[in-house]
Amino acid sequence: MKKTGVPAILGGKPIFNTLHPFTRPTLNGISIVQKKYLEIFKNGMITNSKYVEKFETKVKNHLGVKYAVALNSCTSGLMLILKALNLKGEVIIPSFTFYATGHSVLWNNLTPVLVDCDKNTYTIDPSSVEKAITPKTSAIIGVHLFGNPANVKELEKIAKKYKLKLIFDSAHGFGIRYQGKPLGSSGDAESFSLSPTKLLTTAEGGIVTTNNEELAKKIKMGRNYGDQGTYDCDVLGLSARMSELHAILGVESLKNLEKNTAKRNKLAKLYKQLLSKIPGISFQTIEDGNRSSFKDFSIYIDKDKFGLSRNELAAALTAENIMVKKFFYPPVHKQKLYAKFSNPKNKLDNTNSLSDNSLSIPLYSHMEIGDLKKVCDAICRIYANASQISKL
Ligand SMILES: *Cc1c(COP(=O)(O)O)cnc(C)c1O
Repeated sequence: MKKTGVPAILGGKPIFNTLHPFTRPTLNGISIVQKKYLEIFKNGMITNSKYVEKFETKVKNHLGVKYAVALNSCTSGLMLILKALNLKGEVIIPSFTFYATGHSVLWNNLTPVLVDCDKNTYTIDPSSVEKAITPKTSAIIGVHLFGNPANVKELEKIAKKYKLKLIFDSAHGFGIRYQGKPLGSSGDAESFSLSPTKLLTTAEGGIVTTNNEELAKKIKMGRNYGDQGTYDCDVLGLSARMSELHAILGVESLKNLEKNTAKRNKLAKLYKQLLSKIPGISFQTIEDGNRSSFKDFSIYIDKDKFGLSRNELAAALTAENIMVKKFFYPPVHKQKLYAKFSNPKNKLDNTNSLSDNSLSIPLYSHMEIGDLKKVCDAICRIYANASQISKL
């Protein structure tokens, strides 16, 4: 790592000549995709047909789960799961998550109860969940954050003890191994995202997995307006199907999932190796036996040791033409739609600290090692000139 050169924010030449992206989908198999597109263009079967089924079967086999229902998004998957479980009252969710977790609760007219996360793993803290349970609680939604699996075992224990439903926002879930195994079978159901920032992508899309046959049937009906085929709906559903075009992309993307996860783990390891030399930077803890998908790579900035705040570092990296994200700022409990659900009894200290001090830096499956090193060089020279930058 080099700390040479004047940081761009102090007038030096930016490390990258053009904006380095935060993420990019890793797309392969264009010739196979083209061939399949030609086929469905000819036969006209562009939705509700064999590629959606094929994709569902491949995902089921990959995850080792009984049922998989492909959808247009992870968010509609969560909405449909909550609806199908016929929940009432309060649903416990972490505040340190993407707002879509909460949106699924609000769309079902349920009350979100926002709880804290663990300060090391960044995932929903089981002891905070247990403290937030009231007679009105009907479910918990766990989130696998930045690709680090939530504490599934503890959450399952709590759900069982208090007879609550347990759902997982597994948006970052493809590529994860929890205690050596892929996700998909935890709790009552999980909803995965297939949007372009995730490891497995269909351009836009989602997929719900469960071992509960009844629930799988309801989600299938739910993606199709709630219609069982009678044109007289039993339940209120959405129009949330996956098209054949999307499913074809998914079948191809799945072929590279393991390879891409391995690459991200390698890149994340290199980031940690290089950045741990700089004082004031720490990382999310991935517990033994687990594999993160590294959907995102986040660093935590200790201002006293690093010499700059997260916001100052973000500005300095932006000047270097490096795109970064303040995930998740503001945290859900401080957002306009959610502030009114904030309960001072549920302490959110770890969430607030992560939200204020952590920064996600570029990582994607085909990122060049040379570019990753340049990101580290940039952080290094910003650190070396911190006192000057802090005076700006
Ligand atoms: C991306 C994401 C979602 C939403 O996924 P969509 O497929 O876009 O609906 C939900 N939760 C988390 C944590 C996410 O990162």
